[in-house]
Amino acid sequence: MLRLERFKNIMSDLVKLIHDTAPSKAIKLMEVCGTHTVSIFRHGIKALLPKQISLISGPGCPVCVTSVNDIDAAIALSKMPEVILVTFGDMMHVPGSNRMSLHKARAYGARSEVVYSPRDALQIASDNSNSKVVFFATGFETTSPLIAATIEEAIERGVNNFYVYSAHKLVPPALRALLSSPDVKIDGFILPGHVSAIIGKAPYEFIASEFTKPGVITGFNSDEILMGIYMLLVQIAANDAQIQIQYSKVVRPEGNPKAVSMIEKYFDVCDAYWRGIGAIPSSGLNLKEKYSHFDAKKIFQIDVKSDTADSTACMCGDVLRGIKTPPECALFGKGCKPENPVGACMVSAEGSCAAYYRYGGATVG
Ligand code: SF4
Ligand code: SF4
Repeated sequence: MLRLERFKNIMSDLVKLIHDTAPSKAIKLMEVCGTHTVSIFRHGIKALLPKQISLISGPGCPVCVTSVNDIDAAIALSKMPEVILVTFGDMMHVPGSNRMSLHKARAYGARSEVVYSPRDALQIASDNSNSKVVFFATGFETTSPLIAATIEEAIERGVNNFYVYSAHKLVPPALRALLSSPDVKIDGFILPGHVSAIIGKAPYEFIASEFTKPGVITGFNSDEILMGIYMLLVQIAANDAQIQIQYSKVVRPEGNPKAVSMIEKYFDVCDAYWRGIGAIPSSGLNLKEKYSHFDAKKIFQIDVKSDTADSTACMCGDVLRGIKTPPECALFGKGCKPENPVGACMVSAEGSCAAYYRYGGATVG
């Protein structure tokens, strides 16, 4: 009981500090990470803030930013008779072109399996030596070290029917692309906790040094998010721009060098196509040439159109860049709902549209 009282006091102190520190002009802070978006809605944080502070969602949900082209490629792989396509659960429902998904393709006989970790995919390969098991690998710097470790294990165990289709993305180049876009206006970043636990703080320094915007690497509890916002406001009030760590219980300034070295051992940085946003230089990861015998993009003849656009009515791109809020999309809650998504932002629970639908705009439609 005493602890609850103390927590309530901390929260109300933080809210007061935020109100006292907020500038009088309107500002926009972007929470990059989908888990932050959900936490902000769940804890009603927007309602606690002064009106002039808007929180906008960013491109930090791996499901949302996987391109139509990559989904089409995964579907094409799952239709190959010798292939079992393996991926994380949310990816099954992301629409590719013509609103086809891995889940729908399964109804026509395509083979796909859901796993919780890449190691499960390796086990499926080891249990099905007559099939070729392709792991459709999506995610940010949090998952790529796990994929690297799984390839290492495949080598050690001599599993030779395991392949990886890498659709991995890197967060800092996406933030650079947003900041370089003239129609995107962001005054500060609530930076992702999990990604930063891997890469540390240095890859974000350009945000402060080149674009003079502050950023705070923030945890996911309500008090941590409020603290992160307060730390941003202090910097804005002082006309300062630094990258700071609120989430110091998990994130070290240097990140996790061992995990980073695993990424560097197995992957090369490449240009990548982000759903709704477009091509971003040096924002993806492909397997190194040395490991091309694991690379599904090289081993299989995948015949899909390149850079297929999203459904034209879907505004995922503007939502992911923080230009529009989900309810501003004409399809939100009408043609597009979590059980029948048109765009990727409605698929994952961490997608902006799904979070708005569940917590902010469920009455629409
Ligand atoms: S991978 Fe981690 S940091 Fe990135 S969106 Fe998901 S939860 Fe957030
Ligand atoms: S509501 Fe649906 S169609 Fe509109 S932007 Fe969101 S995901 Fe795309």
